[in-house]
Amino acid sequence: MKRKGILVVVSGFSGAGKGTLMKQLLQTYNNYALSISMTTRAPREGEKDGREYFFVTKDAFEDKIKQDELIEYASYCENYYGTPKAYVEEQLAAGKDVILEIEIQGALKIKERFPLALLLFVMPPSAEELIKRLEGRGTETAEVIKKRLIRASEEAKGIEEYDYIIVNNDLKECTRRLHELIEAAHNAPLRNIELIENMRQELEALVKGEN
Ligand code: 5GP
Repeated sequence: MKRKGILVVVSGFSGAGKGTLMKQLLQTYNNYALSISMTTRAPREGEKDGREYFFVTKDAFEDKIKQDELIEYASYCENYYGTPKAYVEEQLAAGKDVILEIEIQGALKIKERFPLALLLFVMPPSAEELIKRLEGRGTETAEVIKKRLIRASEEAKGIEEYDYIIVNNDLKECTRRLHELIEAAHNAPLRNIELIENMRQELEALVKGEN
């Protein structure tokens, strides 16, 4: 039986190192597809349309909402961010585990719509380290960094909604743990209903045959 793909949500404070972690995960293992989100925020230096994000205007984004082309969307630090539906559906159907690197409001919407989605939260080793990483990135103004820190402290209130947390102190180790958690999730009974049902029917048939 072909293994079904899992929808994997990865959240974490801005600066927790999610982006690098996702890149490493995709480079190391080949069963993952990373969803590319749509956003109204301006590209950072070095970001390319269609690679990090699909960068669109507010009007274009609101159009996508109306056309029901997004699985979820949220507003974050005054910009829209959303997950295009088509790619996710295609990749799941192809058996890939699809990663959505999204913030908490979107994550909770996904949990509501897809109860079997796996929700993971990446934590920095400490709050101090988070600030260091945000400042070290050198791509954001002090004002934006401040907004992101405020947002982080709000997001910290919702971490219990996630299935697992992963502390990102070493990239390789963290990538391996992430992969192992997703692999383990594949073995949960609720994600294997068909297999279990088949086994039950075969057992019943055997029991009947013996009578
Ligand atoms: P950034 O501007 O740093 O690239 O992203 C800001 C936040 O938006 C991050 O927490 C990121 O995970 C989240 N984000 C990115 N894409 C999406 C999306 O499609 N939906 C939602 N809900 N959040 C997203």
